[in-house]
Order: sequence, then structure tokens, then C-alpha cells
Amino acid sequence: MIFCSLYSGSSGNSMFVSSDKAKILIDAGLPGKKIDEALKSIKQDPKDLDGIFVTHEHSDHIKGVGVLSRKYDIPIYANSGTWTEMESSIGKIKEHNIKIIDKRSITEIKDLDVKAFNIPHDSISPMGYTVINKNKQISVATDLGTFTREIYDNIKDSEVILLESNHDVSMLKYGPYPYNLKRRILSEIGHLSNDDCAVAIVDLVKNSLNKRVILGHLSNTNNQPDLAYQTVLNVLRENGIDEKRDIRLTMANRHQPSEYIEI
Ligand SMILES: [Zn+2]
Ligand SMILES: [Zn+2]
Repeated sequence: MIFCSLYSGSSGNSMFVSSDKAKILIDAGLPGKKIDEALKSIKQDPKDLDGIFVTHEHSDHIKGVGVLSRKYDIPIYANSGTWTEMESSIGKIKEHNIKIIDKRSITEIKDLDVKAFNIPHDSISPMGYTVINKNKQISVATDLGTFTREIYDNIKDSEVILLESNHDVSMLKYGPYPYNLKRRILSEIGHLSNDDCAVAIVDLVKNSLNKRVILGHLSNTNNQPDLAYQTVLNVLRENGIDEKRDIRLTMANRHQPSEYIEI
């Protein structure tokens, strides 16, 4: 399997996953042209995409979904709540490209199984995904106010996990955001802080070693890549986890494709 985060952050998200036979995107939250560019830069043809799986209707996850679907005739997969909320912003989609999936379901795309799970976030019906091919798994879990047992159970066996490390709590608290927005982000249905992300990673590493964990969906205003990385590293060390021996920890880039990972 191949995994590549094309873009990750509050300014837009899109992840590429493929197997021998299937190619999908999880979210397309930037203009279609930007996703095209990113795919071409990793030598992938957008025409070959078998589907776009949408996590939720916030614009940083759906901005390019409609354009790509119309241009390359790509099916869009989302649950019924998300479809209702995003319909007016993604434009007209051909009937045969409207694919409604259940919140906790497995969708077969050629030799890939795409498993959806529930995440706590302030959108209508948000989901994370684990993509399975033979005995390999890759998971994406961003936009979550808390790291729940359900998320843990769904991603614990994945070799590659992109996990949200959205904000530094002090930067957010003392930063420029209005009070209500700060409260929303800090709430149980907001976004995961660097500290909470670190605790989640400790649990995941305790379950199995040698995972590749990619920190993603960083806030542009309330975080810094170095700070997120260092915060997680410190917590791992405090828990006796060696960053070279036990885990591979990397960052997802905001403006360009990150590492092209093959497992
Ligand atoms: Zn969101
Ligand atoms: Zn988001």
C-alpha cells in the first residue's frame, strides 16, 4: 500500500491511499487545481482515482470534492448526514457518483476495504477512516475533540496513522481567536491538542511498536510544527518510548505532499 498526505492543516486536507488495484483520496479540501498539482507531483493521475471518501462537511475537507468528481467522473463517498450538509457547497454531482455509506461500515473498492468510524467533532456526522489491504492497514483520524475508545479500537492495528495534533493549548488560550471559537476548539467536539495527541500515541505504541505516526491538521495560528513534534516527543520519552527504536514520528506538510510511504 501507498500513503501520502497531499496537504494537511486547517487550510485544507487531502490524503492519497492506494493498493495494487485501487486509488482513493480521503478528503479533498483544497481547490481541485491544487489537488491535481499534488497528485501529479507524486506521479499519480487524478483520472485513475476510484473514489473520494469524505470525513465531514467543513470546507477544509470538501473544497475540491465537487470539481474533481465532475472533471474526472469520480464517485464521492460520504454518510447521509454529510451529504445533506455538503450538497449546497460542492455543486451538482452526477447521480452515479453519489455514494452514501453508513457511519460504521466497510466499503469495498477493488482490493481495498475502507472502514468508517465515528469521531467526536462539531459537524453533522464526522468520521475517520481505516483503509485495509490484505493484512496492512492505514488510518486517518483528524478533527476530533477527544481521542475516544472507538477511535483507538479502529486505528490501533494500523501501520501508518495520520493523527491530529491541532494546537498548543497555551498558544490557543492566549492567542487572537475570539472566546467562543477558543471554547469550541477546546471542547470535546473540537480539535485534538498536541498534549492529547501525545497521550493517544503512547497508548497506540503500547499496543504495537514500529508504527509510523504522522502528526497532521496543525492550526496555522495556534501551533508550530516544531512545537507539536517536540511536545509529542517529550511525552513519548517520559513514557519510556524511544523515538528511533519504537516508532517513526513525522509531520504532515501544510502546503505540499509529505513523505511517500510504502508498506
Ligand atoms: Zn472540521
Ligand atoms: Zn478540518
